[in-house]
Amino acid sequence: MGINHPGGAGPAVFRASVCVLLTLCVMTADSDVRIRYGLAMPRPATHLFEVTVTFSGLPASANDLTLQLPVWRPGRYLVLDFAGGVTRFAAGGAHGQVLACRKTDKSTWRIATGGAAEVRATYEVYADEFDQRTRGLDDEHAFVNGAAVFMYSPAYRSRPVELQVFPPAGWHVTTGMDSTATDHFTAPDYDVFADCPLEIGTQRDFAFDACGVPHVLSIYGGGNWEPDTLIRDIRKIIETNREFWGSLPYRRYVFLLHCTPDGGGGTEHVNSTIMGTSPFVFRNPESYRGFLGLVSHEYFHTWNVKQIRPAALAHPDYQKENYTGELWLAEGGTSYFDGLILLKAGLSTRERYLDGVARTVYEDRLRPGNAVQSVAQSGFDAWIKYWKGDRESFNEESDYYQKGAAVSLALDLEIRHATANARSFGDAMRDLYARFPRSGPGYTNADVRAAVARAGGDALGAVFDSLVSGTAPIAWERILGYAGLELVPATSPPPVWTGLEAVDAGRSARITRVIAGSPAFNAGLDAGDDIVALDGFRTSAAGLLQRVKDFRPGETVRLTVFRDDRLREFTVRLEKPPLTLDSVKPREAITPDEKRILDSWLPAGGS
Ligand SMILES: [Zn+2]
Repeated sequence: MGINHPGGAGPAVFRASVCVLLTLCVMTADSDVRIRYGLAMPRPATHLFEVTVTFSGLPASANDLTLQLPVWRPGRYLVLDFAGGVTRFAAGGAHGQVLACRKTDKSTWRIATGGAAEVRATYEVYADEFDQRTRGLDDEHAFVNGAAVFMYSPAYRSRPVELQVFPPAGWHVTTGMDSTATDHFTAPDYDVFADCPLEIGTQRDFAFDACGVPHVLSIYGGGNWEPDTLIRDIRKIIETNREFWGSLPYRRYVFLLHCTPDGGGGTEHVNSTIMGTSPFVFRNPESYRGFLGLVSHEYFHTWNVKQIRPAALAHPDYQKENYTGELWLAEGGTSYFDGLILLKAGLSTRERYLDGVARTVYEDRLRPGNAVQSVAQSGFDAWIKYWKGDRESFNEESDYYQKGAAVSLALDLEIRHATANARSFGDAMRDLYARFPRSGPGYTNADVRAAVARAGGDALGAVFDSLVSGTAPIAWERILGYAGLELVPATSPPPVWTGLEAVDAGRSARITRVIAGSPAFNAGLDAGDDIVALDGFRTSAAGLLQRVKDFRPGETVRLTVFRDDRLREFTVRLEKPPLTLDSVKPREAITPDEKRILDSWLPAGGS
């Protein structure tokens, strides 16, 4: 709520008392304002939601009411301009009188209320992007992320909110929001309201208890899922998180799941998550484990970003970018712990986990951008870089997910080593959870640095600075050595590399990445080039990888590509790969101290 303090001249005491008086007046007036939303979808096939929002008890002194739709949604740090889908905006008073309104910028509507106590705004929202987890409506179901559909008034953003949904016959609503009656919901303020997505349709809801708290698994779409197996494994993830954090920060939690052919990814919310997956991942152990990794990731966010919040995201501005250098912990830290939680829950094994560590080391070293941009800066610039990744991102930018996970792993082993395994990065996370509750102002990197130093000693401050704000390579051999682990060279590495990655595109192989300094880079190839032939013979993406294995370092291949509409030829001088995907294994001569760290960090796991 914003209050304009009177400016101008006058005694300071007088100004202060006017401030207090005005504040009291406005607060009294605000506390009378009631906000009720309605959400209807009478013609689902048109993808149009019909939204109403009614403000009653408005102060007679107010001449206008400002409504805004956010330009981004929490969890995705990118300006999305939801207002582009809004049509037919109109406003009226309690007696049906039409109120004049005008747009003042792309996402702001100002209604001339003339002191009316009640104002009702109506508008439609075009919703056809289920895959973005923002808003979608078709003749089978609806999904609503409140930030993409419901407007708010900046003056009353902290007021309680009521919602009535009008679903088509046979549809029902599933959400983490508190319910007062069928299709009636309440939230304590707009921030929570916008953070409680709704699934509306004929989804299957499976209620279960975990740690004595009610949970719901809600599934839209068919597939080879079995609810009993899913609930058994999700319950293990919940219980392991409760052990890790000490308590569950909600009274009820909802897992929303969309099973659709192109489904993938998820978004965390305050007491729910929306996840997408293709429908047939649940029987194959490897793809099922991948799905449980998504569940583990989104659920860990319930604490790490929903309770423990970066300061810039604690009370964000919905109308513009909110810059934060802490996404490496919010996202990368979550990516680090999601795998550990699966292992501790018995849903993975130490060997499989170490395969993941090996890939983390390989990818960390392969990415030239890690030497250009710090992981803190990657999060800060997420709004203009990460989510808009271009062909040079890999070469010029870090990645706050991947690098943030690598940094979290390094910090964990540094703290364990420094304290003879008495403390871990998990202790620093719990420390942050205790110091930065959701009700507070949120944390900064300086606070994380302090928590790491409290866990592992003051010397870790400099280690933290180097990992989070620096671009120096991570000393993997030393850090993994703390747990008695070593990198074992790949037994049959490929003899040469090109440094390009490609996917099949029709009858050609489209280059998706050219690594800086690689043979393909030096030859002048570019992402987007369509390779049609190698030494005059047609090749696919897989065929290219296979055929270059017949060459030796120093030999050349001729790649014929279409760049736009022109046929071009490039000569690539092959080189020995600068890196190989080495495995990570316990040393034979592991010391008792190292073994203690390894065994407590990575329990043997399940299957
Ligand atoms: Zn995440």
